[in-house]
Amino acid sequence: FNNELQRSEKMEIISDLAASVAHEVRNPLQVTRGFLQLMSKQEDGKNKDYLHIALEELDRASAIITDFLTFAKPEFDQTKTLTILDEFKHIEGIISPMANLQGGKISLDIPQEIKVRGNSSKFKQAFINIIKNSIEALRDQGHIHIWAYVDNGEAVIHIRDNGEGMDAQTLSRLGEPYFSNKTKGTGLGMMVTFRIIETMNGKITFTSAKGVGTEATIRFPVAG
Ligand code: ADP
Ligand code: MG
Repeated sequence: FNNELQRSEKMEIISDLAASVAHEVRNPLQVTRGFLQLMSKQEDGKNKDYLHIALEELDRASAIITDFLTFAKPEFDQTKTLTILDEFKHIEGIISPMANLQGGKISLDIPQEIKVRGNSSKFKQAFINIIKNSIEALRDQGHIHIWAYVDNGEAVIHIRDNGEGMDAQTLSRLGEPYFSNKTKGTGLGMMVTFRIIETMNGKITFTSAKGVGTEATIRFPVAG
């Protein structure tokens, strides 16, 4: 028992340190991004391409830091009762432009009354990661359907896409750090999502078929 306590204290110190480093690194990245963006407005030709790549890579670095920060400090500073429909409307606003770019559609079927306990921005991050994967998997006539209901005191949320799907091997490695099949993937998205859902006392399962699509099912205790 004593050993365990020491271990968790050490973990606490490490994760505090990781979180503060990640936080400090973010600011200079944002400043650099601002200047690069200014420069790219004044450039054309080859330099514009280079600046575009530099901006993309900076965004990638920021995304890795965001994921890492959540992993290092997943416990929520502020939890409140979340109306999941409101959260998903917000998520839809963020993610729809990305879906449209891929020619895909998102539909929401969520009753107003379902509430869960959690941190709003972590909740959004967890689901944005899942939906982003769905968008990235979409092919022609892409569709992502999100629906929810209450079952046995649990809020159940389904996210189904008709994208490329996963084979058994990929499915079993989901959530493993740095596991990615994408050239520009971080392989951190599902790890972070699993962690957030776990911290909210929730459960997540995936079913998928190659060439058919993927469905994520998430269950949380209902609030109140
Ligand atoms: P990343 O998106 O950066 O690759 P993730 O942890 O979000 O990392 O996902 C890991 C891998 O799982 C992805 O590279 C992809 O191969 C697979 N995956 C996750 N969700 C889906 C999905 N909805 N459809 C198809 N493949 C998926
Ligand atoms: Mg991802």
